[in-house]
Amino acid sequence: MFTEDLDTFYIKMGIDTKLISLSKEIENNLKERFSHIDRITEYNQLKVLKAMQDNRVSDVHFAATTGYGYNDIGRDTLESVYADVFHAEDALVRPQLISGTHALTVALAGNLRPGDELFSPVGKPYDTLEGVIGIKETKGSLSEYGITYKQVDLKPDGTFDYDNISKAISSKTKLATIQRSKGYADRPTFSVKQIGELISFMKKIKPDLICMVDNCYGEFVEIIEPSDVGADLCVGSLIKNPGGGIAPIGGYIVGKTEYVENASYRLTAPGLGKEVGATLGLNTSLYQGLFLAPQVVSGALKSAIYAANLYEHFGFKVRPNGLEDRYDIIQAVTLNSPEAVIAFCEGIQAAAPVDSFVTPVPWAMPGYNCEVIMAAGAFVQGSSIELSADAPIKPPYTVFFQGGLTWYHAKYGILKSLQSLYDKKLIRL
Ligand SMILES: *Cc1c(COP(=O)(O)O)cnc(C)c1O
Repeated sequence: MFTEDLDTFYIKMGIDTKLISLSKEIENNLKERFSHIDRITEYNQLKVLKAMQDNRVSDVHFAATTGYGYNDIGRDTLESVYADVFHAEDALVRPQLISGTHALTVALAGNLRPGDELFSPVGKPYDTLEGVIGIKETKGSLSEYGITYKQVDLKPDGTFDYDNISKAISSKTKLATIQRSKGYADRPTFSVKQIGELISFMKKIKPDLICMVDNCYGEFVEIIEPSDVGADLCVGSLIKNPGGGIAPIGGYIVGKTEYVENASYRLTAPGLGKEVGATLGLNTSLYQGLFLAPQVVSGALKSAIYAANLYEHFGFKVRPNGLEDRYDIIQAVTLNSPEAVIAFCEGIQAAAPVDSFVTPVPWAMPGYNCEVIMAAGAFVQGSSIELSADAPIKPPYTVFFQGGLTWYHAKYGILKSLQSLYDKKLIRL
C-alpha cells in the first residue's frame, strides 16, 4: 500500500493533489509535536482508567434510574470517578447540568450570598456569563440577588495584573472566577501552571477566597488540571472535552466537598442536594465518553496545530501560531474577508459525517451585534468537541474552530476548508 490508495481516496473526496502533497509536508514536520501529544494522551488515558478501576466500575452502574433517582449508584460512582480524575474531594456530574453556562451558574449561585463580591482577575468572562453575572442587565442575574462583580483586565501583553488584583481583593471578595481558555476572546489561554501561580497569589492575600476555574476546552490538554494546583472548583461541559463526544448532555463541577455540596443545593434544592437526580439511562454514555476523552482531545489538539501550520503557510494570521504550546483546543484563523470565512465554514460543513449536504449561511443570531456563520455537522447538537467552526461576520474576519472526534476526520475537514478557499480562488496553490 498504499500511499497511492490513500491519495486516490482523498482525490475522490474532492482534495486537490497539490494540497495533498502540502499536507504531507506539514504533517511530516509535526511528528515530534504529535508524539508529545501522544504521551500526554497516554498519561491521561491511564489516569482515567485507574479512576474507573479504583472505583470498581461495573455493569450495575449502567442501569437507568427514573423519578427522584434515589440510590443511583451509577451516578454516585461516576461522580467519584470524576473526583479521582481531577484529584478533587467531590464532584457533581449530571445530565441535569444542561450546559457549561448552567454548570458555572450553579457553582456560582450555590456559593455566593447577597453582599458577596465575585471577582474575575482575568478580564471579561465568556459571553454567556455576562447575563449570569449581570454585567449585562438580565433577569435573574447574580446582580439582582445583591452579588456584586469586579474584574481586573489582563495587561496588554496578556499577563496577570498582579498590582491591581491585590488592590481589588477586599473582605467582600468571596469567589474568584478564572477562565482557563481564551474562548472567543483575543487573549492567551492560560496553562495550568500559570493558573496555579495566580491562585497562590490570591490566596496569600485572602486565604479563604474560593478559586473557581472555568475549565471549558481545557480538560486533558495537559497532564494536570487546575484542581491539581489549588483550584477549589473546576467546572465544565460534557459536550466539550470530558464527554469525549459520546455524552449527549451534561456538565460537571468538581472540587472541595463543601463547595460542591453548596452547588448541589442550587442544582436540585436546599436539603436535597446530591441525593436526587435520575440519570434515565445516560450513565453508560457519560462513563464511555470520559474513557474516550483523552484520545478525542488528542485528535482535536493535533488538528488545531495542523490547521495553524497549514493556514500560516498561506499567510493567514493564526492564534495560537503554528509553534506555540497549546493549553486548549481552540484555533483562531484570521481570513481577512467575509468570502473567505464563508468558504472556510462551507468546507468544514461539507466534511461532516452529519448534514454534509447542508450549506451554512450567515444569520443574525440573537445576542450578537453582527451576523454569525456556523459549521457543525455533529451527532450531538451544538457539540464543540466535534469538528465545528463559527465566525462573526465582521473585521478582521476571524473564524474559530475546534474539535474533531478523530484526528483523521478533523484533518480531512481542514483540507476541505482549504479546498473550498482554493475553489473560490481565495488562495493559490
Ligand atoms: C463553552 C464555554 C462556556 C459555556 O459553555 P456552554 O456549554 O456553551 O454553555 C463557558 N466558558 C468557556 C470558556 C467556554 O468555552
